[in-house]
Amino acid sequence: MNMITNHMSTAELQKLDAAHHMHPFTDANGLAAKGARIIKSAKGVYLTDSEGHKIIDGMAGLWCVNIGYGRPELGNVAKRQMDELCYYNTFFQTTHVPAIALAAELAKIAPAGMNHTFFAGSGSEANDTNIRLVRRYWQVKGMPEKRVIIARKNGYHGSTMGGGSLGGMSPIHAHGGKIDGIHHIDQPDWWSEGGDMTPEDFGLERARQLETAINEIGVDKVAAFIGEPIQGAGGVIVPPATYWPEIQRICDKYGILLIADEVITGFGRTGNMFGSTTFGIRPHIMTIAKGLSSGYQPIGGSIIHDEVFNVVAEGGELYHGYTYSGHPVAAAVALENLRIIQEEGIVEHVRDVAHPYLAEKWHALADHPMVGETKLVGLMGSIALTPNKATRAKFAAEAGTVGFKVRERCFANNVIMRHVGDRMIIAPPLVITPAEIDVLIERAKKSLDEAYKIVK
Ligand code: PLP
Repeated sequence: MNMITNHMSTAELQKLDAAHHMHPFTDANGLAAKGARIIKSAKGVYLTDSEGHKIIDGMAGLWCVNIGYGRPELGNVAKRQMDELCYYNTFFQTTHVPAIALAAELAKIAPAGMNHTFFAGSGSEANDTNIRLVRRYWQVKGMPEKRVIIARKNGYHGSTMGGGSLGGMSPIHAHGGKIDGIHHIDQPDWWSEGGDMTPEDFGLERARQLETAINEIGVDKVAAFIGEPIQGAGGVIVPPATYWPEIQRICDKYGILLIADEVITGFGRTGNMFGSTTFGIRPHIMTIAKGLSSGYQPIGGSIIHDEVFNVVAEGGELYHGYTYSGHPVAAAVALENLRIIQEEGIVEHVRDVAHPYLAEKWHALADHPMVGETKLVGLMGSIALTPNKATRAKFAAEAGTVGFKVRERCFANNVIMRHVGDRMIIAPPLVITPAEIDVLIERAKKSLDEAYKIVK
């Protein structure tokens, strides 16, 4: 079967794809008319498509290929593990070496006290685990009414019913609804929503919405707060410096659990192993996925602080688990990925190339007539597109129209940058070199210039 499809032309493959493959977050009819881009191979930070284009991947796949593409060590580990033990479950008092080793390694690299991991197959599943964990925690403590989780509008926590409900994206809620007991407060997006406030005051105002919500809902009803240290899919929204300290103060004051969704920010992206370290957050639970295996295998999980684990454990059996929780091949590959990240100093490399090398070039994009705010933390950046930098105005066209045009030019110029509305975002593989950063920036600039000619 593979032999046949490998020798098909791009057009034939696109036709077959449109006929049988339903894509995530995609307008199926729109795609059928246009045909999907077919990626055939990848090495380092470059993808090659079925037409032979060499594309620099400014998004590390979907924010996940932290160590870069094509590292043979991971395939070798996967083969060895498949031959030795391709699968066994971790239910019913059974375990295996890869799950033990990975959980122990995560306890070593996670912040102090976070010594337990519950494995899942993805970030969405891990966040579903978190809903159950925090509600169970309060049940065992004799407060079953504490079950509301406070999250943020325009946050993203996945696409299962639980993950999609925690996320604050109304188009997702519109397709299938959301589960009960989730409350959303406003996001700390100063560029779009800060009005005349200073970023510092705005950060405090948005954080204090958590306190207001706790008081309105009742502290006896609130279980936890969840947030991404930096909102990723929401547009790489870096909160003002005042935001996280105030959120932490409020969580501490009211004794509610804090979940840091580190699915994107984990494993080096922000210049520390976890985004919580970068922002001084002390979470009870961290959601992990993506960079845990650099996308070489699907795996996610929840790293749990002793304080939560001990209470939940006291309650006896937790009625929760996935067939692939701690899958041996995924766990072995993730462990090898963590070895590479640590032994090759990839987190230190992020700090070295991000500041000042990428930072200077990224912030210089603000000289472009269509670029307003530029943000960068580690290797995670965004630029806001605007017709007027001084007033932070939005374009007259429907939100996202201009961002889409820039994305189209990026596509044509063989650079992957994503658009979220009228923000352009990057999160390249963490192994990107200064010379590759030059290519990324040059193609980004060219795409901005070409899009500007079309929209101005
Ligand atoms: N949480 C965050 C912060 C994410 O960015 C994502 C995916 O982009 C998820 C959760 C969901 O992860 P997955 O797509 O692996 O289910």
